[in-house]
Amino acid sequence: MRRTVLLALLACVVGCAPLSAQLALTHANVVDVERGVVLTERTVLISGNRIVAVGAGVRVPAGARVQDARGKYVIPGLWDMHVHTSREGRALHFWPLFLAHGVTGVREMGSYLDSLQHWRAAARRPGSGAPRIVWSSPMLDGVPTSWVHGYGVPDAARARAAVDTMQRLGFDFLKVYERLSRDTYLAIAAESKRRGIPFAGHVPRAMTAMEASDAGQRSFEHITNALTLACTPRGAELLDAFAKARESLGPDADSTRGALGRLRSAVAAGPEEDACRPTFARMVANGTWLTPTLAVTHGQVPPDALVADPRLRFVPPALAARWRSGHAAARPEDVQFERRMEANAWRLVGMAHRAGVGILAGTDASDEAYVFAGSGVHDELALLVRAGLSPLDALRAATLNPARYLGAADSLGTVAPGRLADLVILDANPLADIRNITRIHAVVANGRLIDARERARLLAHAAAAAARAGTAPPARR
Ligand SMILES: [Zn+2]
Repeated sequence: MRRTVLLALLACVVGCAPLSAQLALTHANVVDVERGVVLTERTVLISGNRIVAVGAGVRVPAGARVQDARGKYVIPGLWDMHVHTSREGRALHFWPLFLAHGVTGVREMGSYLDSLQHWRAAARRPGSGAPRIVWSSPMLDGVPTSWVHGYGVPDAARARAAVDTMQRLGFDFLKVYERLSRDTYLAIAAESKRRGIPFAGHVPRAMTAMEASDAGQRSFEHITNALTLACTPRGAELLDAFAKARESLGPDADSTRGALGRLRSAVAAGPEEDACRPTFARMVANGTWLTPTLAVTHGQVPPDALVADPRLRFVPPALAARWRSGHAAARPEDVQFERRMEANAWRLVGMAHRAGVGILAGTDASDEAYVFAGSGVHDELALLVRAGLSPLDALRAATLNPARYLGAADSLGTVAPGRLADLVILDANPLADIRNITRIHAVVANGRLIDARERARLLAHAAAAAARAGTAPPARR
């Protein structure tokens, strides 16, 4: 797995900086995300697409481009570990938005098979303007699939064929989804282990979070039902009682409704640390990561500031209209319930983090309400801090942790010699206040400096591309 992902990561992206070009960031404050300290008065020397030196006494070679970074803070390039860029031509405005906001790498989480192949080929062409992208297969799901772009896998025998197909097509990992049956899911898990291709995604409804972790799933996306249930006292028991009542008495029987009510109120009461502990301990032991995508939950019940956000100029008009009407139609009681669920999600993420579960920053940038491509990562980091992570740990969720998750910590995730030159230069210290992550002075993507002028050009290009972009109705079945 590691080898495949690394090869993909090293592929020529963002126009391939000429290998001889040298760039020196001088007098910089370098944020060491491993140790959690700021190193002052450093020079970061870049040659081609690699960092070659970081230090106080680094000599700047004649002919190198010098960028005075006095008073600035240099952090590793950010990663968005959950995006869907490969539908409806969305890459054309997403890619410049990622780079302009310091998001130099993303993990694509699935789309139609042919769109994935098309945009993967496009991203790899020199000068494509794409960030680094780690590519998921289409969502492997049960039949019928949850989304029209899902890839239905009806049984265990065909699970093996699906894993084979996706590996041959060159995807970096497999995405698993909600409706996979137990047998099919376990067959995918066994086959992907045998073939050395990782799988990640939702915890299917037929599995508990602990079982999926034991099966080797590399990451859990979102706070899905499985995780919520794992953190609800007597969650499994209440779900079981409801399922049995529905099966024997039918969905409309009083006792079925009663069982559902008990399950709902237990979930609404929120996660409890004692209930979560065994599942989180297993995730830590197995190395299962969590991508909470708090930005999605936040966008479901957007505060007023988000509804009037100037970043809406980067959203296709038809999609922005859909977000607005969805927001306007929300009933007060639903809003209240969603806010409670959001607070519960924050608590759960805080508990997971304290238990030692590795957290990945991901936004689900696609057509999710009020989730903005690129800058959504800044929102996600602020939400992770609200969930109880320190600014340093939130920053790690978008830098060091993705590098470790990808088995690429020797190339990514830190500002150090030998690493790929993906950097963000900030006007203020993100460890003092995570919101400083929005104060971008410049970006270095694969060794290429994206200064204020180039950023403005990328943003104008993204706004124009978004204004032209169409949008399809939700593809959920
Ligand atoms: Zn997603």
